[in-house]
Formats: sequence, structure tokens, C-alpha cells
Amino acid sequence: MPDQTQRFETAAIRTQAPRSDAREHSVPLFLTSSFVFDDAEQARALFSEEIEGAVYSRYSNPNTDEFVRKLCLLEGGEDGLATASGMAAVYAAIASLVKSGDHIVASRSLFGSTHQILTRLLPRWGVSFTYVDASDDAGWEGALRPETRLLFVETPSNPGLDVLDLARLGALARARGIPLIVDNCFATPYLQRPLAFGASLVVHSATKWIDGQGRVLGGAIIGDKALVAEARFFARHTGPSLSPFNAWVLSKSLETLAVRLDRHCENALALATHFEGHEALEQVRYPFLASHPQHALARAQMSQGGGIVVLVLRGGIERCRRFIDALQMCSHSPNLGDTRSIVTHPTSTTHSKLTEDERQAVGIVPGLVRVSVGLEHISDIIADIEQALVASA
Ligand SMILES: *Cc1c(COP(=O)(O)O)cnc(C)c1O
Repeated sequence: MPDQTQRFETAAIRTQAPRSDAREHSVPLFLTSSFVFDDAEQARALFSEEIEGAVYSRYSNPNTDEFVRKLCLLEGGEDGLATASGMAAVYAAIASLVKSGDHIVASRSLFGSTHQILTRLLPRWGVSFTYVDASDDAGWEGALRPETRLLFVETPSNPGLDVLDLARLGALARARGIPLIVDNCFATPYLQRPLAFGASLVVHSATKWIDGQGRVLGGAIIGDKALVAEARFFARHTGPSLSPFNAWVLSKSLETLAVRLDRHCENALALATHFEGHEALEQVRYPFLASHPQHALARAQMSQGGGIVVLVLRGGIERCRRFIDALQMCSHSPNLGDTRSIVTHPTSTTHSKLTEDERQAVGIVPGLVRVSVGLEHISDIIADIEQALVASA
């Protein structure tokens, strides 16, 4: 049934490592650092990459291969690579493509560590960057230089939920002959497939929605074969490999991504709708609320709004601290994409390393809290947030 295996839910479940002699139904964990050669000739051919096959788990392993094959089908990518974390994916994707003197154009609203790579690490090796604001549609052309090597964007962004026009950016990158790299962590391929809009690579933190239960770190780079080959060379020799155990967990997690995300999105939309206009809040931000500045764009390029809702509390940082301490069920943790609802205050935690001006520029005001809406009953999530808003007044 070749066609059927291409459908999202089916590919996510039926893409499996080849069955072993034990005839297992669920794919086992291959905890092995290396693999045995049949003979001297096979060893030679494997090392010269004349033939494909497992050699050493820093390069590949049946569990990481299965995870990557699955993600390639789900994202519609030619090839891919698994990494130890989302940041390993971001770094390997960028570092494998740039050299001294190159320039990067990126959306300003980026995950904190991606911002640190662009502003603190890459300049050491002579790689510069220009940020473009999400609201500055005309800014992209102006930011491009002859030495611009790639475009890097995150949409929806963490935590501001800015939505960027993937079709427009994909076309711009293609016209210039440079790759567009998209951090697709917040949407996952179930809600948004950037490669279909002209992106060349997608990077993932699999730690979030892909794991879905807050257990393991992981990441991936998916997309254009030639670019993935560059990233693979970089990763093979620098070593940010995904552990087989984490790949085993993540591949099984992908089996339930579609059903989990349907409920996360349903709960998030219900929560955002419930709290919009609440007297304790200055603002509720959610891509599928009509009040979101890029609402029409979000509806055009995403199938649902995702599991993250941003609440901006009246009363600033002190109110936020009281609110967080008053929560009785929702966890206070820096992660997201878990079955458990999680509330995070970026100004004092994940984005505390940014200056006040940098936070302001990406809309991270002191009263902003990020809610990763979990899979508990929606009435219980709403009730917990409601009582904490009252208690923190
Ligand atoms: C968490 C996150 C990352 C980093 O992923 P890790 O797995 O923690 O390394 C990158 N991008 C986005 C948007 C994230 O939310």
C-alpha cells in the first residue's frame, strides 16, 4: 500500500526499522556503539561510502535512522540528520554552511540560544548577521548583501508567536540562490511544512512537541539533500549525535504526534478564547485568534494555531511572580510541548540573558507569560489560571 504510507498518520506509525530475526512488533532499542562487518571488503566499501550501512553510532544507528526517515516523510524532505538537541541542529545547520566573511539574515524573534550563536559565537569566526523585524515586510530585501549566505527564521517564534510569511521568504531565498532555514519547532510538520513553501532546510528541537512528554532532548535537520550532506559531514566529525535511546523514544512519540497536537491545539484555542478580554490581562496572543497581527497568514500556512498561548498580565513582573507562585496545577518549568501544562516567565528565565532593549524589540514585555497548553482537561487548565489571576491581583 505505497500511497497510504505517505499519509501523515500512517507514515508516522508504519515507518519502522527492518524487523530483526526476533520478529518483534515494536522496534527494539539498538544500544550498540558500533556494528560488525561481514568481511574486509564490506568494511572498505562502507568506509569509502560506496555502500550505505551502519558503521558506528556517531554516524548512524537503526533507531536514529528510523526517526530521521519518519521525519523526512512528515516534512516532505529528501534527506535528514538527527542531532542531540535542537540547538545542535540549529548550530550544525548554520555552521556547516558558512565561512569567514559570510553574512546571515535572520528574523529578530529567535530562540534565546540561537540569538547567542548569531550574536556571540559566529562573530568570533568572522560571520556577521542582520536581524529583520517580523513586522518589517520590506526589510528582508534591504538586509540581503552579496555575501549573505543564508536566511534563518523561526515561525511561530518563541515566545512572541510572531508569524512570518514562508512563501514570500522561500521565494526571496530561491531568487537569490541561498537557502532559507526554518526552525519549525513550534508548529511541527503536522501543522506547517516549510519545505513546501520553498524553505531548503527545517530544523527541529524534538525535545518539545515531538517528544511530547518532557522526557528526552533531541533535534533534527531535514530538507535538501546537498545541504543535509554538508550538515552530515559537520556532525559526523564534530559529534552532536542523537543517542539511540533518545531516538527510540522520539520515533515512538511521532506515532502519536497527530492525535496529541489536535488536542493541544483545541485546548490552546479554547484557553486563548476564554481569556481574551479578561480584566487581569493586557493582551492574549495566539496565532488563530482574529486579534493576532498575522492572523490571516497563520491561517494560510498553518493548519491549526499550535499549543502555545501568550498572556500579558497587567501589573508587570511582580504580578507575574505572584501569578506563577499561585498556580496549583500548571508546572513552572522552562520546557514546553508536554502533556502537562507549563507556565514560563521569559523575562526572568529563558530570555533573562537578553538586554531590556533586546527583549523589547521582540515583544517580550515584563508581564508576558508563555503557556504551553497541555492535555489535562481544558476546564481544569482554565480554572487553575483563573484562580491564579485572582490570587495575584
Ligand atoms: C527549545 C527550542 C530550541 C532548542 O532546543 P533544545 O532541544 O532545547 O536544544 C530551538 N528552537 C526553539 C524554537 C525552541 O523552542
